[in-house]
Formats: sequence, structure tokens, C-alpha cells
Amino acid sequence: MSTPATRGWGQAPTPRSDIVPVALGTEQVNAAPGVHRRIAPLVVELAHRWEQITGDLLVAGWCWGYAPRRIRGGSAWSNHAWGLAVDLNAPRWPLHSTRRPPNADQMRSAADDLGFRWGAYYSGRRDPMHFEFMGTPGDADRIASTIRTAPFDLEDTMFCAYGDTDSDAVRALQIRLRYVGADVIKVLTSGGDADGVDGHYGDLTARALATALDRPDPVRRYGPWQHEWLRAEVTRQLLRRATFIQPDAAADGVPEHTHRAEVLLE
Ligand SMILES: [Zn+2]
Repeated sequence: MSTPATRGWGQAPTPRSDIVPVALGTEQVNAAPGVHRRIAPLVVELAHRWEQITGDLLVAGWCWGYAPRRIRGGSAWSNHAWGLAVDLNAPRWPLHSTRRPPNADQMRSAADDLGFRWGAYYSGRRDPMHFEFMGTPGDADRIASTIRTAPFDLEDTMFCAYGDTDSDAVRALQIRLRYVGADVIKVLTSGGDADGVDGHYGDLTARALATALDRPDPVRRYGPWQHEWLRAEVTRQLLRRATFIQPDAAADGVPEHTHRAEVLLE
């Protein structure tokens, strides 16, 4: 098996001078203290994709990068010692957990495209917080050159409109609505879609939004005006606070939903 040393990254640990801080996700959080400078753009994009695909917003203090240490329980250097590994929302996705966030297969494929292997799919000890870069320094530069990095902004998810179908923005909105409360989940799942996320902004999504905002049925009473709710500050705050929570007791791979939004960002 290759190691970062055999792939041209030098001996561990990487000097601190090659580690740079990163600004990840909606809240622009660092993976403290940072990651190897050559993969920094890849980590930023990985975090962007994580939030878009799983709907799990990254929390300040919960993401970790460089650490000059050995693998937990082993003698080999951890990829963290090269600054080539990142842990996303670590307390929510702990080592040994077999749980995965929503749309995990899609996330795995996105990570793969960026050159990262994801611990949520390890055959042995699972590590769902953990992503590590598997390429050479040259691979990192090549992949970075293919990324058109756009800073992730929660407002992006407001740009969907009634009638939109199969868009990432609608899916992101639906995932966040599911995290807000049981009533919303019931509305979305009553449409026959098992996980309540179908990428279509039709009546069900509109009603889920209305329920989350505790408004009358927008389809009957407000028609197209409900689109404006998406751009309203109160909606923005609601969706920003909607966050994924999964009790430890949850069955493997099956997301559990809370009955209340958990406010983590205040
Ligand atoms: Zn890790």
C-alpha cells in the first residue's frame, strides 16, 4: 500500500510551514490548524460538496486537519501528519461509527473525483468524519486546476423557484426542510418519496416550507408569492439553523430525524 511518503509528499510529519488554514462551507470554518497547502483548494471544494450533497452544514470547531501523530491505535503515521487528511464535523461522525450522512454514495463519488478516500466506506474500522488525499503532489495540482471554486453561500439555495426540477438547489432546500421538524418530514414523505428528497419544487416542497414557517398553505392562498418567502430573512435564518442530527441509536445508513431544529450556530 502506498503512503504519502511513497507518493512524493516527503517524510512525516510535514513541517508546519507547509500547513495553511482553510475556510470551509457556509460558515467558513477552518479544519484546525489547517491542511497541506498543495491540497487546500481541494479541501475547500470537498467541504462545498459535502454541504451541498449531505445538507450537513460544517460547524466551527468540529473540523480538523493537520496533526503530527500516529494512526490511533497503531504505529504508522496518520495522513493527518502530512496535512493530507481532513475530518468533517467530527463529533457528529465519530470514529468506529457505521452511520453515513444522506446521499452518501453521491458524496463518495464526489470525494473520489477530488482524489479523496472516505473513511465512511472503509472495509475495516470505519471513520465517517475522515477524508484523505490519495494522489501525488502533481495530482493535487492537476485536480485543483479543474476546479472552478465558487465560495459556497447559503443564498445559493434560495435561488430555486417553484417548478424547478432536479436541481441541487432544490435538493439542498428539501434536505434542510427535513431537518427542521417532523411536520415538514411528514408533508414531504406523504408524497410517496421514501426519503422526502426528490429534487422537485412542487406543491409538497412549497407546503413543507409553509409548515416550517408556520404559514397558511401557500399553494392555495398565496400562489407564486410564496417564492418570496425563500428570500425572506426569517427563512434564511430558519434554514441556516436547520442541521442534521442523528442519534447514536439510529440504524446504519438510515437517517433519523429530530422533531425540532437544533440551533448550533448561535
Ligand atoms: Zn481523520
